[in-house]
Amino acid sequence: MTKDLINDFLNFPGLGSIKIITSAEDLKRYHKNTMGVHRKILAAIQVTESKQITEILKIANKHLLSIYPISTGNNWGYGSSNPVKNNSIILDLSNLNQILNFDDELGYVTLEPGVTQKMLHDYFKKKKVRYLVPTTGAGPNCSILGNAIERGYGITPFSDHFASLISLEAILPDGSLYKSPLSDFKATEVAEIFKYGIGPYLDGIFTQSNFGIVTKITIALAKKTEHTEIFMFSIKEAKELSKTIKIIREIKQELGSIIGGVNLMNRERMKAMFGDKHQNKSIIWTCVGGLYGPVEIIKQAKRILKRKLDNLSSSVVFLNKKTIRLKNNLPNFINKYFYGIPKETKIMENFLKILDGVPSEMALALAYSKSNKTHSLKGNANPAIDDCGLIWFSPLLPIRPNIVEVFVKKIISICKKHKIAPLITLTTISNHCFDSTIPILYEKNNINDKKNAQSCYDELFKECRNMGLMPYRLNIDSMKIYNNEHDLTSVKLIDTIKNAIDVNQVLAPGRYSSTLSKKSDFTNNI
Ligand SMILES: Cc1cc2nc3c(=O)[nH]c(=O)nc-3n(C[C@H](O)[C@H](O)[C@H](O)COP(=O)(O)OP(=O)(O)OC[C@H]3O[C@@H](n4cnc5c(N)ncnc54)[C@H](O)[C@@H]3O)c2cc1C
Repeated sequence: MTKDLINDFLNFPGLGSIKIITSAEDLKRYHKNTMGVHRKILAAIQVTESKQITEILKIANKHLLSIYPISTGNNWGYGSSNPVKNNSIILDLSNLNQILNFDDELGYVTLEPGVTQKMLHDYFKKKKVRYLVPTTGAGPNCSILGNAIERGYGITPFSDHFASLISLEAILPDGSLYKSPLSDFKATEVAEIFKYGIGPYLDGIFTQSNFGIVTKITIALAKKTEHTEIFMFSIKEAKELSKTIKIIREIKQELGSIIGGVNLMNRERMKAMFGDKHQNKSIIWTCVGGLYGPVEIIKQAKRILKRKLDNLSSSVVFLNKKTIRLKNNLPNFINKYFYGIPKETKIMENFLKILDGVPSEMALALAYSKSNKTHSLKGNANPAIDDCGLIWFSPLLPIRPNIVEVFVKKIISICKKHKIAPLITLTTISNHCFDSTIPILYEKNNINDKKNAQSCYDELFKECRNMGLMPYRLNIDSMKIYNNEHDLTSVKLIDTIKNAIDVNQVLAPGRYSSTLSKKSDFTNNI
């Protein structure tokens, strides 16, 4: 960035204390990512007050600059802090980290972009309130807001993080402030408890988009239930996959809010997360989930689960705080009862914590499984900074056995072709829909491995699209698909809105949208 421009930023009236980072050394942390991409970043601006964003957008419009907002910038596997377009300025919102309002009675919280899972957890702990943080596998240092507006998900009872978003405020590219309609109409309290507002539902257009910089959100919180119990069972024969998928669909449909998200993971995925020594070689798939509610209801739910799983070859295991402690004190031969389950109690304790809304780095071990770096997972793991190689491919698919079986075969054959281990998880994100997360793990410093990872992603994307399956979320490279789809009505509408509210294309160009700019603006710049 030129000196003139920096001066313009620093001397602009009303800008206050912002920090502008331009040195190559200090920008490194924004470049680092797990995908192996490189974007040219002109500068990073750290703000301390949301009103500074309006002024920054005025300057961006004056000088035709591209501004790319991040909350905590841990979009690992999808681009981390990197922008879609080269020559962008990162707008780092991590210092806007206030919890602005919390309603214990109705169960909602209003917070800024920099509030992390850990910050919210500490806040609940201090206030001694019984609400769950909407945890994800990305762990304690990730933004609640960033994850919700990227429509991420976890496996606590409110697993769909956009579904629990009630209202928001966003600064539009011209600097004006958008508020959810009920709030704009000064119906402030109901605005915080009723998602759809009034009139056309607009809040959604600020998620997975480049229409505004979101400065605060209000989200509904799941209340901690009297009891949480893990259930876990395994599949030892390939033919049981189809039966298991039907059972998962049934328990989701029949147990309602008692059951959270259910994860079905293949052996390779379990191995990458927990290591070889925790794995029983005869197990092909492991299914795990959480039950939430009063003790009596959980007892009934466990009975139903057991009955449904009766004709599978291995039995279901239930674990809670008490049984985990007990298991810890049992000799190994008795522990064989827990056949096929990671032996170390710590793993189960951590998993129970995630289900209970306590942020944990446990799942981040996966990102390090092909890296030379060892992780301590003591609270500051960062797969991008630590040069881990990971690209997420995360397609949606119906909870139908026949489709899942074809899908699984396809994924395994494509991954093998590109010399990538086929790690598959299927997570229920509703009663009808799985999202599958496939982490393409590779050695970051090995050029061939990196090429294999990228070609594997491309082929997975293409082949799944041919099957009618698309990811629920895109990475900064795959967003270029919009450029080939100008004829689609939905893409035309996105273009129309974008051109109307961002005449100079200053806000995150190319993010979930097509672009008329040069191709080189969006390709890797090494
Ligand atoms: C091992 C592992 C496990 C993971 N598990 C999960 C999981 O369980 N669930 C899940 O959802 N993800 C998961 N992830 C993916 C990812 O790391 C998380 O989604 C993470 O929360 C995203 O980073 P962030 O919260 O820092 O958001 P950010 O990176 O700050 O934001 C994400 C994107 O949203 C946009 N954005 C951010 N803030 C704003 C704003 N204020 N206004 C406008 N646009 C904005 C930006 O374009 C940004 O790139 C995992 C990653 C790894 C490596």
